[in-house]
Amino acid sequence: MDLPRIFTLRESSHRIHNPFTPGKLAALGRALRLPPGTRVLDLASGSGEMLCTWARDHGVTGTGVDISTVFTDKARSRAAELGVADRVSFVHGDASGFVTDEPVGLAACVGATWIGGGVAGTVELLGRSLRPGGLMLIGEPYWLREVPDQETAEGCHARGGDDFLLLPELIERFGDLGYDVVEMVLADQDSWDRYQAAQWLNLRRWLDAHPDDGMAAEVRAELTTGPARYARYQREYVGWGVFALMAR
Ligand code: SAH
Repeated sequence: MDLPRIFTLRESSHRIHNPFTPGKLAALGRALRLPPGTRVLDLASGSGEMLCTWARDHGVTGTGVDISTVFTDKARSRAAELGVADRVSFVHGDASGFVTDEPVGLAACVGATWIGGGVAGTVELLGRSLRPGGLMLIGEPYWLREVPDQETAEGCHARGGDDFLLLPELIERFGDLGYDVVEMVLADQDSWDRYQAAQWLNLRRWLDAHPDDGMAAEVRAELTTGPARYARYQREYVGWGVFALMAR
């Protein structure tokens, strides 16, 4: 059980595996005004940057669950580096169906709502770990504007225009699920570039170091076509944000 290797090659230099800069992640942490000692559950916690920096900056405690052994090891090292290893822990495992024994004050899934089969299922899953009055965080893509055709949707790594909603519709969707949207921080083109463009140098350095690896042809093809595809489609059409929710 592990994340396919191509992801860890692309994002080898990343601490945040989504289109947020450290500044946006910190802004979100401040915006939530979490009392020190708030218990957090982070499903698909990646390299643990949210839990580790918020433990350092806001005194939260908590658990991250992620299917990637590489990212989970990085998260544990980061916790030690930031001096918060006594406050946060990282579990390697499948987060689908993961529910805490004790309810938490903040339950998050940032950029991995497929673990609950989509937004509705992930909201339901996180809700099972959340104490009454707690905060939920969902990180999710949305369309910046209507997608004109199937080619554009696929250029954005979507199966079709139905994969995402427009931002107002996504916000209404959370309402339909019985939640108030009480805060949000959105990616922008610069923060998208930090996530996507940073992958290209990772791929190129890896290719130079591993020319005979079995994945070299796949990585070469991605590096040849990926940057223009990103500029043509994803950068223009796909937004992303983290939405803070409270049950009505
Ligand atoms: N929330 C993190 C990581 C987002 S990237 C961040 O913002 O930095 C998506 C993450 O989902 C990856 O770390 C991947 O390993 C993880 N993942 C994918 N499927 C998963 C599953 N079934 N259970 C747990 N983690 C999963």
